[in-house]
Amino acid sequence: MTTKPEPYTNALGWALETPCERCHASGEIWNEAWRLWTTAWEDSGAPFWNETDRETWESEHPMPSGSDLEGCPDCDGSGLRPTEAGRSLVAFLRRHLKATL
Ligand SMILES: [Zn+2]
Repeated sequence: MTTKPEPYTNALGWALETPCERCHASGEIWNEAWRLWTTAWEDSGAPFWNETDRETWESEHPMPSGSDLEGCPDCDGSGLRPTEAGRSLVAFLRRHLKATL
């Protein structure tokens, strides 16, 4: 996962990158195992159970291990995706950067 950049304060930056739609610019998405477990928990009516029923349900449906969030694969965790102009700039730099160094 990359370090999340500061929001741009100028139009040039936003012309090159745009907030990621998949993660809503957070850089993180729900881990699928946690999303399924949480949905099963909510569908079970669990908030209305007593402690014994909760322990029984959890023994039958073990909590997933690890974090409930993971880096967004669409933006590599940055929360930003390149625009068409940004992709053009990357292509330009790849073509000419070596020649100017
Ligand atoms: Zn994203």
